[in-house]
Formats: sequence, structure tokens, C-alpha cells
Amino acid sequence: MEQNMENRVYIKFPAITENERTARMMAAAFLTGLNPTVEEMDDVKTAVSEAVTNSIIHAYEDRKKKEECLVEVEFIRKGQRIEIIIIDYGKGIEDVKKAMEPLYTTKPKEERSGMGFSFMEAFMDELEVISVKGEGTRVIMKKMIGNRKD
Ligand code: ATP
Ligand code: MG
Repeated sequence: MEQNMENRVYIKFPAITENERTARMMAAAFLTGLNPTVEEMDDVKTAVSEAVTNSIIHAYEDRKKKEECLVEVEFIRKGQRIEIIIIDYGKGIEDVKKAMEPLYTTKPKEERSGMGFSFMEAFMDELEVISVKGEGTRVIMKKMIGNRKD
């Protein structure tokens, strides 16, 4: 049955602000076929948006030509289980454990609240962050979709 087939969609775009919306809309489009609840849809869109925003804002902050800095997002579905991977080739995170703590931010002056990773963790079933300093960051998030009780 097609519903049980695996699907993989891969997008790649420059790390510019407008592509936060692009990634959000792609997440919504990818999820639509899975008959998600409104809450599931919002949760996944927010989690993707937070991860992509991080790649846009933090990963390449030292680079001048933003259009040459790339972000990749891979959407994978196996049945009702989705996995979304957000990849950048930016500066990386020195201490991932610390970065994932609520309220931790390296940009307090720019009205960042340091809640991005906490939202991703709260809205998805599983969150894994792999980062190598100077090489980039990979955020892997998983969630079961369609837990509706109606
Ligand atoms: P908010 O998401 O609430 O606007 P924030 O982005 O600072 O604030 P988090 O998303 O939780 O908070 O990220 C915490 C910190 O981890 C960031 O301040 C940044 O230093 C670092 N970080 C997160 N993602 C990346 C990334 N892709 N590349 C480099 N550093 C990152
Ligand atoms: Mg953030």
C-alpha cells in the first residue's frame, strides 16, 4: 500500500531569512498526506522553523556572502513516522549540551531567548544534535504523526 511506502524529499537553499518560510511550507506540504492533527502540524512546522532559523542566524554569522552558505533539509517518512534532518556547513556548536539548555543563547542582545532547542525537544518525539566545530551542524528530529483519537 502506498501509505506504507517510504518517502524522502530533499531541499537545499541559501541561508537567507526568507527561506525560513520556504522550509516551513515544505514541512506543511510533506505532512499533509499523513492526515495530521492541527497540533501535530503546528508542532512540526515550529520545530523545523526553529532549526532552520538557527542555521540561518548562527551557523554562518561570520560569513559575508550568505547566498553561498547552504542549508539542507531532508524529510523522510516511513509509514506514519517522520524524520526531518536539518544540515548546515557553518561554524558548528562548541558545547551542544549547553546550547540545548533552556534560555541559553549566544545572542542575548539580539532578542534571542535561547528557547529554540527547547521548543524542538518539546514539539517532537526525539531530537538529536550532532555538531563539529568549524564543520557544521546536523539536527535530527523524529515524530509519529496521526495519533488522533477521533
Ligand atoms: P531563539 O531560538 O530562542 O531565538 P537561540 O537561537 O539563541 O534563541 P537556541 O535555538 O536554543 O537559542 O540555540 C542555542 C544556541 O546554540 C544559539 O544561541 C547558538 O549559539 C547555538 N546554535 C544553535 N544552532 C546553531 C547552528 N546551526 N550553528 C551554530 N550555532 C548554533
Ligand atoms: Mg534558535
